[in-house]
Amino acid sequence: MKLLVTFSRKEGRKPIIAQVVRDTGVLVNVERALIDSSEGEALIDIPDESCRIVKDRLTDLGASVRILEEEIVLDETECVDCGACISICPQEVFSFDSGFRLRMDAKKCVLCGRCIEICPHRALSRKGPA
Ligand code: SF4
Ligand code: SF4
Repeated sequence: MKLLVTFSRKEGRKPIIAQVVRDTGVLVNVERALIDSSEGEALIDIPDESCRIVKDRLTDLGASVRILEEEIVLDETECVDCGACISICPQEVFSFDSGFRLRMDAKKCVLCGRCIEICPHRALSRKGPA
């Protein structure tokens, strides 16, 4: 399960993810981390059964946690490979292959929804958990 973790600059100076691994014993896979002068944001992947303990510990440490239960799906029959979603996505989820066909790396997605809004062919949508 993916969690989007945000923390303030003050907390961002601490090794918050490492502390959670140490305190909970849960192995955390950090898929992406961005830290600037005001805040940090990390996209982490953990076993589903460990979601509650990790979320609670992160919250105790002052982080905000959003559980990413949905996913963005691409309808290849509607996509015209215009590339608009490549430009708008902050996570570099989309790219062109060598034949300029759109490809997705959904693991990087943080569900901001920008690609859905910009797609001129409504080829992108949110899908909830099964
Ligand atoms: S914006 Fe829509 S139509 Fe254009 S490449 Fe992306 S998914 Fe395909
Ligand atoms: S929802 Fe946001 S992060 Fe995910 S693919 Fe679309 S633009 Fe990228």
